[in-house]
Amino acid sequence: MDYSVARRRMVQQQIIARGINDSRLIDAMNQVPRHFFVDEGLRGHAYADGSLPIGHKQTISQPYMVAAMSAALELQGQERILEIGTGSGYQTAILAMLAKRVYSIERIPALAARARKVLDQLHISNVNIKIADGTLGWKDQAPFDGILVAAGAPDVPHEYLAQLAVGGKLVLPVGGFNQQSLIRITHLGEDQFRREELMGCRFVPLIGEAGWAETDNA
Ligand code: SAH
Repeated sequence: MDYSVARRRMVQQQIIARGINDSRLIDAMNQVPRHFFVDEGLRGHAYADGSLPIGHKQTISQPYMVAAMSAALELQGQERILEIGTGSGYQTAILAMLAKRVYSIERIPALAARARKVLDQLHISNVNIKIADGTLGWKDQAPFDGILVAAGAPDVPHEYLAQLAVGGKLVLPVGGFNQQSLIRITHLGEDQFRREELMGCRFVPLIGEAGWAETDNA
């Protein structure tokens, strides 16, 4: 299988054809080898139009969702980004190419370790990963120019608003356990925030103090 051909086709058919036109983002999606971030047995599906299991009941997000969330942050290159839910590290790698530095939090140690290994293999060196409850943000590195949450929250955790720089954007899925809306919140200054609803989506749950309880399932 020629992965670079499959990847270019993925970018054409799933990303560009659906209206994403940020050229830096398109370059990043053309460059980052998504098949590195999935188990060997699933590599043949790495450029398919969907999410895939990565173990521990978690998934690598659909390529289009990664692109749409990244695009929603409208990055120029100098930003410091907080990502919640490192998972496979694929979204982390895309953000690392679009921003100056990415601070990524994962609650499952084995996933954080695997993501770190793949990012190192790819020589992506502007990423800090920590194992923690990401619903509390990363206070000692705040404020952030962008916050991207890759797991569905019942409500917007207030620490994200507190840790968002003026002009910064927060993109996160909010709603029920099985179905959410992708929301973008822009910090306009003082206590002013603009909230936009981007699209429907379906993410694994954000589990933690300001998210779902581990025992929730409905
Ligand atoms: N963008 C990732 C998505 C992984 S799925 C990818 O494409 O691979 C979401 C991830 O969020 C899971 O790995 C899950 O363990 C993690 N997660 C859920 N709640 C979390 C929390 N409170 N803090 C940090 N990570 C969390």
